Amino acid sequence: MSCGDPHETDCSEVLDHLYEFLDHEMPDSDCTKFESHFEECSPCLEKYGLEQAVKKLVKRCCGQDDVPTDLRAKVMGRIDLIRSGQAVPEHDLTASAELPSSAQES
Ligand SMILES: [Zn+2]
Repeated sequence: MSCGDPHETDCSEVLDHLYEFLDHEMPDSDCTKFESHFEECSPCLEKYGLEQAVKKLVKRCCGQDDVPTDLRAKVMGRIDLIRSGQAVPEHDLTASAELPSSAQES
């Protein structure tokens, strides 16, 4: 879960509050701590980037803020792949994400 380097903010703390950060539901002082953590910790940054990408994708396609559970599970699978050393480009993730047909532009 950690890149092995010591950080001012613990990785587990960052990941525990990732959604609060994404939703801007935390104080500015905490956001600053998280941002500096992402700068020095690529595993956390990767996870943050994926979550952010999914969130944006879902919002754009479905017009909703909540990420469907199955889609989130799919992304978590991707994250596991990345963790195991198989880097997956972001465009690949978004291209393979199966969204409800009602999400198509009309
Ligand atoms: Zn970290």
